[in-house]
Amino acid sequence: MKPHDAMHPYVLRFIGCGHGVLFSDPCVDCELVGLHDQYNRAVKTISKIQGRLKELGEPVGGYVPKQIKPKMVTK
Ligand SMILES: [Zn+2]
Repeated sequence: MKPHDAMHPYVLRFIGCGHGVLFSDPCVDCELVGLHDQYNRAVKTISKIQGRLKELGEPVGGYVPKQIKPKMVTK
């Protein structure tokens, strides 16, 4: 990930993001920032849900309702 370049001409003129890429162009570094943020939030969400499921005495992760297990369908 590229750090912000505060001295970039685009940044100084407020016509680009902090990486010196015009707002009209896609910026991979800005996308990466967003993806890392999204990932971190997802990890927090998962740990929060796992904690709550444990509190409720439920199995954590990979829970499949019995009625849709393949071996329950036929025989
Ligand atoms: Zn950027």
